[in-house]
Amino acid sequence: MSPRFSRRDFLKTGVTVGAATLSGRGLFSGTVQTAPAVSGALRVVSSGNGIRATEKAMEILNKGGDPLDAVIAGVNIVEDDPNDMSVGYGGLPNEDGVVELDASVMYGPTHTSGAVASIQNIKNPSKVAKLVMERTMHCLLVSEGALKFALAHGFKKENLLTDKAREAWLRWKETLSDRDNWLPAQIRKLPEDLQPVMMTHGTINCIAIDAQGRLAGVTTTSGLSWKIPGRVGDSPIIGAGLYVDNAVGAAGSTGLGEANIRTCASFQVVNFMGQGMSPEQACLKALESIAEKTKLWPRALNLVNAEGRPSFGLNFYALNKKGEFAGATMWSGPKYAVHDGRKNELRECAFLYKTK
Ligand code: ASP
Repeated sequence: MSPRFSRRDFLKTGVTVGAATLSGRGLFSGTVQTAPAVSGALRVVSSGNGIRATEKAMEILNKGGDPLDAVIAGVNIVEDDPNDMSVGYGGLPNEDGVVELDASVMYGPTHTSGAVASIQNIKNPSKVAKLVMERTMHCLLVSEGALKFALAHGFKKENLLTDKAREAWLRWKETLSDRDNWLPAQIRKLPEDLQPVMMTHGTINCIAIDAQGRLAGVTTTSGLSWKIPGRVGDSPIIGAGLYVDNAVGAAGSTGLGEANIRTCASFQVVNFMGQGMSPEQACLKALESIAEKTKLWPRALNLVNAEGRPSFGLNFYALNKKGEFAGATMWSGPKYAVHDGRKNELRECAFLYKTK
């Protein structure tokens, strides 16, 4: 799960991080993790919380399975896991205490996609997104419509709010103000890990290529915790949270969705790779262009720190047709998961700015 931020800490972090040094222009300052080009190579790349997903997806690819089925089976492990509070079952809820999920899939060989947004009570939105792609001519179903569609296809309604997530939400609600009717949270004893109840985000993205050069990807999330009901992040937006072009490569994202949506950055990453950039160069270039745009955004959005740099975390994962891959992040620290056919491991993301 990504770091937690309160609105105040969000600003504070921005200021602290703003004092960080930028190595050169930041470009290519992180570790170069690009894999050698191998024809027919199997690759699965995922966000840092996706090490079980890459393992599972590779197992399926090794048996000759379809890459979209492989990445979806991979992320289902995390969607089903109540301990990952940023995705699926156990995800942190919106400000009303309701878990709303977003997900998208894209399949390279047919250049088709499907997505659901703000869907409630369905544990595996990634599977519903695939059905939107396969069983409708639409790209995105939201909210009630998405739920009805899922139920029509035999999905079961489930309560996705775990006790731990509910307690976290309740504590957030109780600490919002000392001038409302909720008594201060301190009077109740809560588990240690629920003490700092701040804005949290997290997501899983997983992209893969099989031996035939077929590319596919999925992104699934519970989005920002305590979000305004109906808020949709970048994960179900094709071109933002995910993009696949079978002639070029695939890219996906985790991190602050609002910054990503405004720049269609996964589309940009794939486009940059199409222009000849390596996956790492393409991810860093997209991050750089977001950092530039950050300077234009109104201060009230809290997306920029005192030094005019992004105050948020944003990560991209990319894989090209040759099997080269990378993960890159705005501020150094995050890792990404990769299975290169031989080894499944976490690697350091390349970064635009160095966190002090
Ligand atoms: N991208 C997700 C969203 O904005 C959150 C995250 O990945 O941290 O909904």
